[in-house]
Amino acid sequence: MNLEIDSDRLTQELDTLAGFPDAPAPAVTRVVYSEQDRRAREYVKGLCAEAGLDVREDAVGNIFARWVGAEPSLAAIGTGSHIDAIPHAGRYDGTVGVLGGLEAIRALQRSGAKPRRSIELLIFSAEEPTRFGIGCFGSRLLAGCLDPSTVHDKDGKTLDEWRTAAGFHGGLGSVALPPGAYAAFVELHIEQGPLLERAGFPLGIVTAIAAPASWRIAIEGKGGHAGAMLMRDRQDAFCAAAEIGLAVELAAKSTGSEDTVGTVGVCDVFPGAVNSVPMRVRLEVDVRDIDGARRDGVLARIRQACDDTTARRGVRVRIEAINADAPAECDATVVAALAAAAAAHGLPFQKMVSRAYHDSLFLAGIAPTAMLFIPCRDGVSHRPDEYASPQAIADGALVLAETLASLADR
Ligand SMILES: [Zn+2]
Repeated sequence: MNLEIDSDRLTQELDTLAGFPDAPAPAVTRVVYSEQDRRAREYVKGLCAEAGLDVREDAVGNIFARWVGAEPSLAAIGTGSHIDAIPHAGRYDGTVGVLGGLEAIRALQRSGAKPRRSIELLIFSAEEPTRFGIGCFGSRLLAGCLDPSTVHDKDGKTLDEWRTAAGFHGGLGSVALPPGAYAAFVELHIEQGPLLERAGFPLGIVTAIAAPASWRIAIEGKGGHAGAMLMRDRQDAFCAAAEIGLAVELAAKSTGSEDTVGTVGVCDVFPGAVNSVPMRVRLEVDVRDIDGARRDGVLARIRQACDDTTARRGVRVRIEAINADAPAECDATVVAALAAAAAAHGLPFQKMVSRAYHDSLFLAGIAPTAMLFIPCRDGVSHRPDEYASPQAIADGALVLAETLASLADR
């Protein structure tokens, strides 16, 4: 197949999309259902229509742009990502998979290919948790693993209020896709880590996607005057929290796998005064792995450490599980199609796991799924200086196009 990626056009479209932010350049902030989000959607939908794709939106604003195949009744091959961005982010996270996916389809069109199955570009609503506090909300709803009535922002404004104000109507129950809607799904994304760049590989083929479990841990001790309260009389909530924090690190390391990570990202101390013994502490803990059972084993160790601390220090510890998504194994057939496509274009690749999670984590629940990573400079992401070179993006789009074509003809 004679595939050529129009890298200049793709770069220019990424630049244009980065011009619809809520933040001063070069930072990009694009929160779902904001005015900037609306303008970015209009822009991308316009490009899809220009490419002759059939464009539709669902009740929460997930966008579907379909290049109808020779046998339209067959399940389609999906690709895509997101265009929302966390506050003060860069211009490549998500957008490379959307505009790169579109350019992959256009390259196939230019080559004269006529795929058997339809190829559909998906733009997921709100991959980032900025508005609703939950990541991948659009793809979770598509996969039927989120109850839309539970979704609201931090001020209590519901998803229903937000999406109707943004012009999206129709039953929220209609968003979940029927089983078999896609024969396969592939997401192109920047790596958001340094491994490909360090190893000098232009491509990474993702074989598993790690998933987080998060806990809120409330520790209650006894407060008092930092001068008057004797050490032997103390039940210092912060000291107990510090023990638990170290236990999180130890538990994550105990698996012996690089794929297990544990983090205490929040530590709120009350009352938070230099001359006051901490009375209460709230920790937020994130544990991730590509192996769900191993991750649950780490959580069990942390729970045991909480019990030990309670017994030793006389504090009270309450654990609240906030979230626990299942990790995903990528589909071997889609992985093989990606590997064959990379080889066909002489592009070396590394097989790797995705330590961050993506919409693909949820698509994997309803369709055979894999991801294609391209390197980004210094592994930097979620920052204004996030950067992927036009060559890296073009390589990704090229291999994506080849992969989509091969999957669509099966
Ligand atoms: Zn992303």
